[in-house]
Amino acid sequence: MKSEEFIELLCKECEKQDIQLTEKHAEKLNVYKDLLIEWNEKMNLTAIVDEHEIIVKHFVDCLMCTKVIKDEKNIIDIGTGAGFPGMVLAIYYEDKEFTLLDALNKRLIFLQEVANKLDLKNVHIVHGRAEEEARKEEFREKFDATVSRAVAQLPILLEYISPFVKVGGKSIIMKGDSVQEEIKLSTNALNVLKLKINRCFEYVYTINNEDYHRNILIIQKNMCTPPKYPRNYGQIKKKTL
Ligand code: SAM
Repeated sequence: MKSEEFIELLCKECEKQDIQLTEKHAEKLNVYKDLLIEWNEKMNLTAIVDEHEIIVKHFVDCLMCTKVIKDEKNIIDIGTGAGFPGMVLAIYYEDKEFTLLDALNKRLIFLQEVANKLDLKNVHIVHGRAEEEARKEEFREKFDATVSRAVAQLPILLEYISPFVKVGGKSIIMKGDSVQEEIKLSTNALNVLKLKINRCFEYVYTINNEDYHRNILIIQKNMCTPPKYPRNYGQIKKKTL
């Protein structure tokens, strides 16, 4: 697909969801898409390679977070992979700081290349496991919000992400249609970690005549995370909250 065609289709798909995209955003996302396709040939970044699908299932899907992000300035994407949703949001919000964290360094090398090419000064890349980085003073309770997509089941994810959030901050969790079942399994995790469900924002996108039902769950943190959490990976897996 030519750049102009890609940009036109991206703008059209954003309009369908009432997402305001500037020409500059669209041009930057086009560069990101080119790098994603190029690097995906030498490393496993995404199973989605069709350009229309990249637009809808990656870019528009991640941009749906703009419906729930308000005045949070300092946001961390935990388990960002190839930058979803954190890199897309960093391109959208030049005035907010984004830390992109992942356990897999090769994906972070790709993200550094994207940040360099697009001259994104608001992107900070961190290599590490969430449950280890969350114990470090420099990251613990330092972020206004976390974002995450497709990282772990909700009870496990809550233990990974909540220690990063400042008291008064929130976690923005992108989930598929299993969200209500996952919420049911998370009663204990929510209690132990002192978290509250604020709301669940539902949306649908359609591609190739198929509807995808998606959810953005907002979790509010009003109290400090007990110092015991997060536990190490072995304990989290063995005895999930
Ligand atoms: N968020 C991206 C997306 O939606 O395309 C990537 C999803 S991918 C299925 C899950 C990512 O989470 C992987 O890149 C993996 O390395 C990372 N991950 C899983 N557990 C993690 C942990 N405990 N700490 C940091 N990264 C983790």
